[in-house]
Amino acid sequence: MNYNQLAEILFPHIDKSPKEYEAMFPARTLPKDAKVTRLGPSPTGFIHLGNLFGAFADERLAHQSNGVFYLRIEDTDDKRYVEGAVDIIINSLRFFGINFDEGASALGETGNYGSYTQSKRRPIYQAFAKKLVSEGKAYPCFLTEEEIANIRAEQESSKQNPGIYGKWAKNRNLSLDEVKEKLAAGLPYVIRLKSDGDMSLPEDQIKRFEIEDAIRGKLNMPVNDQDTVLLKANGIPTYHFAHVVDDHLMRTTHVIRGAEWLPSLPIHVELFDKLGWEPPIYCHTAQLMKIDEDGNKRKLSKRKDPELSLDYYRKLGYHPAAVREYLLTILNSNFEEWRIANPDSDIDDFQFTTEKMSNSGALFDLNKLNDVSKDVLLKINASKLFDFLKAWSEEFKPELAPIFKDRAYLEKILDIGRNEAKPRKDHIYAQQMIENISYFFDDMFKIEDEIPAEASNDTSAIISKYLASYDHFDDQETWFAKIRSIAEELGFAAKPKDYKKHPEDYKGHVGHVSTVIRIALMGRSQSPDVWEIQQILGEEKVRERLSKFL
Ligand code: GLU
Repeated sequence: MNYNQLAEILFPHIDKSPKEYEAMFPARTLPKDAKVTRLGPSPTGFIHLGNLFGAFADERLAHQSNGVFYLRIEDTDDKRYVEGAVDIIINSLRFFGINFDEGASALGETGNYGSYTQSKRRPIYQAFAKKLVSEGKAYPCFLTEEEIANIRAEQESSKQNPGIYGKWAKNRNLSLDEVKEKLAAGLPYVIRLKSDGDMSLPEDQIKRFEIEDAIRGKLNMPVNDQDTVLLKANGIPTYHFAHVVDDHLMRTTHVIRGAEWLPSLPIHVELFDKLGWEPPIYCHTAQLMKIDEDGNKRKLSKRKDPELSLDYYRKLGYHPAAVREYLLTILNSNFEEWRIANPDSDIDDFQFTTEKMSNSGALFDLNKLNDVSKDVLLKINASKLFDFLKAWSEEFKPELAPIFKDRAYLEKILDIGRNEAKPRKDHIYAQQMIENISYFFDDMFKIEDEIPAEASNDTSAIISKYLASYDHFDDQETWFAKIRSIAEELGFAAKPKDYKKHPEDYKGHVGHVSTVIRIALMGRSQSPDVWEIQQILGEEKVRERLSKFL
């Protein structure tokens, strides 16, 4: 077989040689050890936590080493293309502090290694497919869908591995004339890799290869034996072929991708080998797992788990710094220890490494995220929190606009209890914060809790006495002393412990009395310090709420 001739017949329109492409996209001039990473999402419009998780690792590795992090749009499966998806990807990641240095963007592409959109790289893939065909390492395959289905059925019934390989690869050795004939008849064909592997050999004779995964360490796998499709009938490459060509020509040094790609690693290694290239360093990340309602550990699922979508965090108003901080705790096992030792350091000072990434499931836990968020928000001052809440509400809750009219008022509210030695950790995410502080605003104020049974017959008496004795300028001690005397006057114990000792002597204790006051003022039986809240609400509002309650 004259492979050169075969290549010319199949790709007459391809005139650029692989050498020319190598020269167009030369090795990058970067500092030694600089890492080049990429995110290669499909433009489906759905960007999820797994993407963010991977992107974060990509971003850290590149930027920590003065390397390059670029965005490549993997749109070879055009059924999945969603208009505006590139914008969605870039904006969602930017919100979480992840920025690309080059690649696809809404305003066109930046960088010298483009195009960064696979559908625009067709001639490049074909040039390399042509090279493989001309070297007898790939071939046109005319098997029809029906023939392939029959092969699969036969393989199933005889319990053999599925796929086109070995004796099933029926078009491997077509003669040039046979190919010409089929082409003349207009039969559709794909280009397949002519794999060297042979898995039909006895187990101990099957060739294996070793590769060092930066997360998983040394991997030892059987070589590929599948005649994998490289170019589909429409001339568009498969993921396998596209990523190999792209990561080589874009001079990617580290490929960070999900563990679901591990089984196809032998195909990729064989492709790099057949093209005469050094493979990048692969980093196969762990799947994101969760413990579900039944206590089982399972993969996060798009259908069952709303928290897989990045929109979930934006809609609820998680602060990006909190999400970043939390993701690092699951990305690198030594991060939490580092954080304890460096409580005030910038998160970017942490040395992120692939070695400290988990290779079994990374457990995602919303409760832990919330705990991390409480700590992170504690370090963000009231003025910045105000800006964050305002931006969030403009996007997701525009009806909240009035609460942002008085900056000083809202900042005081946001700061309640935060500057103590043992600060309150009330804030988690925007929506929850608004619910937490809603009683400060008349439009949202409502009575939510019930009066304690012990005080239900004395409610009016408590509030009228409280209102009558109220002096906005009392200090905290004087203020509370007044509540104690109201309690005593009405037959409640001034101290809870007296009530506990002799419950028969009292209606209840001072706590029940102050709960009534809390409910009248805040609508809730639980809240931060009442005296402090009254100081923020102001005398007029305090009196107004008490009177209204009566
Ligand atoms: N387009 C692939 C995906 O969405 C990217 C995998 C890779 O990063 O190589 O899963």
